[in-house]
Amino acid sequence: GYRARSAYKLAEIAEKFALFADLEAVVDLGAAPGGWCQVVQKMSPETRFIVGLDLLPIEPIEGVHFIQGDFTSDEVYEQLLELLNDRKIDLVLSDMAPNLSGMSAMDQPRCMLLAEMALEFCQQSLKPGGSHVVKLFQGEGFDQHVQNIRQLFKKVVIYKPKSSRPRSREVFAVATGFK
Ligand code: SAM
Repeated sequence: GYRARSAYKLAEIAEKFALFADLEAVVDLGAAPGGWCQVVQKMSPETRFIVGLDLLPIEPIEGVHFIQGDFTSDEVYEQLLELLNDRKIDLVLSDMAPNLSGMSAMDQPRCMLLAEMALEFCQQSLKPGGSHVVKLFQGEGFDQHVQNIRQLFKKVVIYKPKSSRPRSREVFAVATGFK
């Protein structure tokens, strides 16, 4: 079993889009409690380098580097780049979501900012041909962000896993073939 039910969403996406072939290095943004890292380890055992990052601590996972901190802070971003040490990444995952207030006027911009920063990180760290999976919430800024992803990847599919609650506005952009 996995630490978090959200693990099944990634397992489903990875299988459907064959994301886990030939992965050397993976970065998982918003990794706590560690479900997605576990899925990568289990479904892609040849992956040598896995980094998880989250505001919250996690129970250590053997073989997974973990950074605790706010991805939007310069300090933490620098810490991540330092750990990568110029290594390029095959797959950037982001399941990041702020604590939702329930008021979409406040929540949606915060969600979009996290997604934008994850995309910026892709531009800085992905190998050509690399992939990106990011959780998005349908609403203001969604279409524009999907367009931005499309500029950078050959193929982008918006996908709602069966294991995602039907009523939630969450979907995943699955982007492959980083240009
Ligand atoms: N994929 C994870 C798993 O399977 O265990 C679950 C991730 S949970 C849905 C979303 C996570 O995003 C939370 O743990 C939250 O702390 C994290 N998060 C939200 N904003 C963040 C930020 N600015 N920097 C880092 N992590 C953030």
